[in-house]
Amino acid sequence: MTKKITENFEIFPWNENLEIGIEQIDKEHRVLINLLNKLANSLTQERNIEIEETFNELAKYAEYHFKSEEKIWKEYIVNKELLEEHYKSHESFLPKVLELKEKNQDKSYNEVIEEILLFLIRWLAFHIVDEDKRFALIIKSLEDGKNIKEAIYETESMMSGSMKNLIETILSMYDKLSIKTINLIRERKARLRAERELKKINKKLEELSRTDQLTKIYNRRYFDEQFNLELKESIKNQKLLTVLIFDIDYFKKLNDTYGHAKGDEALKKVSKTLKNLCIEHEITIYRVGGEEFTILFSNKNEKEVLALILKIQTLIKELKIPNKGSHISDFVTISGGLISIIPTKENSIDSIMRLADERLYKAKRTGRNKIITI
Ligand code: GH3
Ligand code: MG
Ligand code: MG
Repeated sequence: MTKKITENFEIFPWNENLEIGIEQIDKEHRVLINLLNKLANSLTQERNIEIEETFNELAKYAEYHFKSEEKIWKEYIVNKELLEEHYKSHESFLPKVLELKEKNQDKSYNEVIEEILLFLIRWLAFHIVDEDKRFALIIKSLEDGKNIKEAIYETESMMSGSMKNLIETILSMYDKLSIKTINLIRERKARLRAERELKKINKKLEELSRTDQLTKIYNRRYFDEQFNLELKESIKNQKLLTVLIFDIDYFKKLNDTYGHAKGDEALKKVSKTLKNLCIEHEITIYRVGGEEFTILFSNKNEKEVLALILKIQTLIKELKIPNKGSHISDFVTISGGLISIIPTKENSIDSIMRLADERLYKAKRTGRNKIITI
C-alpha cells in the first residue's frame, strides 16, 4: 500500500488585503479560500473521489455565502441597480462552473478540474478584492455620514482606472503562477511516489538476491556476506565464531529411488524445520549447495551450541523422510562438521570452512548420521 502524501500547500494563501472589514463576510471568504486550497491539494493527489467531494462542498458553500452576503448588503445599500448587478454576478457563478465542466468533456477529468480551479481562483479573488471591497467602501462612506450617491461616487473614484488595471494585471499573473504551482506540486508528488516504489522494488530485489528459490532460506551468496561480517567482528572483539556445515546422507539415492521432485520436497522440509528452529534461537541457516547447508551460531556459547546440535539431529530424525536407498537408515539423516574458534587475522572464510569440511568428511567416513564437533 502506498503511503498517503500528506504535504499540503496553499495555492491561494490568505492575505490581510483580502479582508474587507466586515467580520461575517471575511470569515466566510476564509472558508471559501480554504476549500479552494483543499481542492487544489486533492487535485495534485489525483484522488478523484476527494476532488469531487471538495468540489461539491465548495459549490454548496459558495451558494450559502452569496445568500448570507446579499442579506448584509441589502441592509445598507439602497441603490437597486448596484444590488442587481452584484446578485447577477453571484447568480452567474454556478452556471459558469457547470458550463466549464460541460464544455471540456473531451478533456481528462483532472484537466477539467484544473481549468475550473483557475476560474475559481480568479473569480473569488475578483469577487473579494473588487466587488465586495467596493460595497464595503460604500458602507464605510455611508457610516461616515455620506449619502448613498456621494458614497458610490467616492468608491468609484477610488476603485476605477489604475486600481482596476492593477487588479487585472495581478490576477493574470496569478493564473500563470497557479498553473505552475499545481504542476510543480504534482510532479513532486509523482516523484516521491516513484521514489518510494523504487525503494520497495530495490528491497524486494535485495531479498531475492539473498534467497534460495527452492527452499526460501538464505543462499550461499548471503552466507559469504554474513560470515565475512561475523569473522571481522570476531577478530576485532576476540569473540567465539561457530559455524556448522552439514549435508544430507545418501541424497543421490533418495533422488534415484523416489524421483527428483521428492528430493526437492525433502530439501524443503529440512529447510523449513531448521529455519524455524533458527529463527526461534536468533541464528541463521543457509543453503550453500545442492543438499549442503550451514548454520552461523551468532552469539551462542559452547553449551548452547551443543544443545542446538542435539535439537537439530532430533528434528531431522522426527521428520522421518523416507530414504530406503540409504545404507544406514530408512529415513533421511544428516552428517556435519562443527567448527568453533576465536579467529585471528590469519583466518579467512576459506580456512575456517576447510576445517569444518574436514570434520564433515570425517563424519561421512566414519559411518554418517553424526556431527563431528571436535
Ligand atoms: P553423501 O551421503 O556422501 O552425502 O552422498 P549423497 O548422495 O548425499 O551426495 P552426492 O554429492 O553424491 O549427491 C548429491 C545429490 O544431490 C546429487 C544431486 O543430483 C542432488 N541435488 C543437488 N541439488 C538438488 C536439488 O535442488 N534437488 C534435488 N532433488 N536434488 C539435488
Ligand atoms: Mg463574497
Ligand atoms: Mg549428501
